Amino acid sequence: MNPYKTREGGATVTIFVPYDCNNNCPFCINKQEYADTSTFSLDAICESIRTMDEITPYCDFVFTGGEPLANLHSLQKMLDCIPTTHKVYINTTFPVQRCHSAAEMLEFVEKNKDKITCINISRHLVKYVEESADEIIARIPTRKRVNCVLYKSYPAEQLPAFVDRFRYYSIPIQFRYDYTETTPENLYEEEGDPILQDLRRLFTYRGLDGCRMRNGFHFEYKGHHMTYHKTLPYSTIVETDENGVTYDILYDILIKQTGEIHSDWTGVPLDVEAYRKVVFEPYDLRLIDGEIDY
Ligand code: SF4
Repeated sequence: MNPYKTREGGATVTIFVPYDCNNNCPFCINKQEYADTSTFSLDAICESIRTMDEITPYCDFVFTGGEPLANLHSLQKMLDCIPTTHKVYINTTFPVQRCHSAAEMLEFVEKNKDKITCINISRHLVKYVEESADEIIARIPTRKRVNCVLYKSYPAEQLPAFVDRFRYYSIPIQFRYDYTETTPENLYEEEGDPILQDLRRLFTYRGLDGCRMRNGFHFEYKGHHMTYHKTLPYSTIVETDENGVTYDILYDILIKQTGEIHSDWTGVPLDVEAYRKVVFEPYDLRLIDGEIDY
């Protein structure tokens, strides 16, 4: 195994909450992991959060699932393990569900708004889940963003109306490529990317930022900011530096539903003791073209 390297501040830590959503989105790659919940452990997850905080006290945390808002009591426990030195993101559908009403979810966010950096709400051109009203999403009292997967043969002509729907509430949108299809060869490819061609045709392209692992093509429509995000389906890059040392460069670390810590999305366990000696490098995310702050 190679020694670890990561960016200043540490790799992003994604936490898989130990409870499922009620949905079956066709592009979901997490669903099968929730089929057998017998080894899931909230306590083990909390322990792993504390371990990662100890090693990288300024890394970002992302809650995903499953559905983070499907059990507010457990989410509170996990959030309470994360000191405020970290940025915290929550990926959610802001679900319509029996266990917690919209009012309860909004109250929860209000109570934790100093701990939560941004809530990313999944909304797609094709509806796969029962959606809470846009007026409710607009009332979320933290930063928020809509994440929209443009999956297979999506109805491209509906894109402007989709943008208008969230532009009305000034909620930025991140369009996403089905990342199981991304490769190092097509990550930055423009001509052969039909989504990029659709977005260029319908909106105004403004700029591109990116790194070895992921990128964002930035667009504007009637003053509204949108990003088209592409990322590789794994999160480790093996590279040899100028001194001949080969490193595993980590971009994402995962805390699984069992509390087990992985160094990649591909099922590789993290050597926690080796990560305590991780070497840091400047984050290679940079502006590549045009402008992205507007
Ligand atoms: S809501 Fe999220 S976790 Fe649930 S099936 Fe859809 S993509 Fe998967």
